[in-house]
Amino acid sequence: MPILNADLHCHSTVSDGTLTPEALAARAKANGVELWALTDHDEVGGQQRALDAARALALPYLTGTEISVSFCDLTVHIVGLGFDHSNAALLQGLHRTRSGRSERAQEMAEQLRRVGIPGAFEGALKYVSNPELISRAHFARYLVEAGVCKDVQEVFRKYLTDGKPGFVPHRWASLRDAVRWIVEAGGVAVIAHPARYNHGPTQEYALFSEFKAHGGQAVEVLTGSHSSAEAAQYAEMALEFGLAASRGSDFHGPGESHCDLGALPPLDARLRPVWELLSERVH
Ligand code: AMP
Ligand code: MN
Ligand code: MN
Ligand code: MN
Repeated sequence: MPILNADLHCHSTVSDGTLTPEALAARAKANGVELWALTDHDEVGGQQRALDAARALALPYLTGTEISVSFCDLTVHIVGLGFDHSNAALLQGLHRTRSGRSERAQEMAEQLRRVGIPGAFEGALKYVSNPELISRAHFARYLVEAGVCKDVQEVFRKYLTDGKPGFVPHRWASLRDAVRWIVEAGGVAVIAHPARYNHGPTQEYALFSEFKAHGGQAVEVLTGSHSSAEAAQYAEMALEFGLAASRGSDFHGPGESHCDLGALPPLDARLRPVWELLSERVH
């Protein structure tokens, strides 16, 4: 297969992105993306819209989602690609994974109130389109709007992360379930942005090994939040573990994400692109 400008990770208003699925499709096309996937957090409610919009633009499309997983007391994200987005077990699993986000958000707001930031729940809600999907990104936008921080990067340095005000640990899906939902719906599971986890080397080895044992087949080597050194490091990990490689900007919106749709460099030629496993699943 020729080298493709594939972008297989981004978010719409159906989770915590700021553009609709239709606007993302148009932006992907305009930016030269040749294979696209919308990967909203714990949600496939935007898939039909993304698919229809991509089809109207003659933009090849893979279904997608990004599942929140608890592994070794940390949160890990598993991207699913190319599954049947009407699969009942997947829909039910995602629904269960989403539940509890509202209560968590109330607790986050309570913590922020205690450090002198009132009204964060209502403030964050102004940015939410999907009532089941209130995320830390929505709080971050409100904290910028309220003048508490200058941008969302500063928010995540000072708030909402482990040990900082506004962080509420949450029990997400298990690694086994997340991979199984994706695989049994006909898709491929991908470890998202592996350099972003605060795992030690032993836990990381456990993540990669267990992920493979459960049927996971790929890892994101290129993502908006990897430096070129991190991309090189995870290219080696992909080769070592016999995983295919994925590429996705993790775009959340203009002015907020540093990496635009379609803007990543090409994958290392030694890697097997994940889309080679999914040629039958492209719409
Ligand atoms: P949640 O699923 O509610 O825990 O929120 C996770 C989301 O918060 C991620 O998908 C990003 O949209 C955002 N986020 C987390 N950490 C950062 C960061 N360091 N910089 C920017 N956005 C972040
Ligand atoms: Mn997000
Ligand atoms: Mn993520
Ligand atoms: Mn993401």
